[in-house]
Amino acid sequence: MKDIEIKVQLREYESEQEMNSEDLSLLLKAREALSYSYSPYSNFKVGAAALLRNGEIILGSNQENASFPAGICAERSAIYNAAHQFKGIPLIKMAITVFTDDFEVSSPIAPCGVCRQVLLETELQQDQEIEIILQGSKGKIYTLSSARSLLPIYFFEKGLKKTN
Ligand SMILES: [Zn+2]
Repeated sequence: MKDIEIKVQLREYESEQEMNSEDLSLLLKAREALSYSYSPYSNFKVGAAALLRNGEIILGSNQENASFPAGICAERSAIYNAAHQFKGIPLIKMAITVFTDDFEVSSPIAPCGVCRQVLLETELQQDQEIEIILQGSKGKIYTLSSARSLLPIYFFEKGLKKTN
């Protein structure tokens, strides 16, 4: 028996002024994506912007539905959109932000478990880490160097197959 410690490192910025220009412009694109959100049930808009290796930026936003499970998160809408438009081009960075009229989201938002799983599989499949940039509607920003940082213990394709 042994205890294993898993460390996750993230970088915290006090404000946008501390960020590099590429990260900041991607975060601003994620904010732009908020306007495409369809969120009449939660009134919680989520925007994502995915930067691909070819320089393209693909937006995604949460799309809700009266049949709740039919909705999709901003992160997956961006990832799948990118996969359709630019198949085989690695996704290298994703910024995620939120906005709601109901209250101020002043701490960084984090992807749900399902989106973490999809980000991780995208990362494994393309063999290229995906940097993650997280912000609420204002305030501090977190950056992480990979999707694996968000999901250090994960389920993946090899887990579907008998290994011995
Ligand atoms: Zn999600």
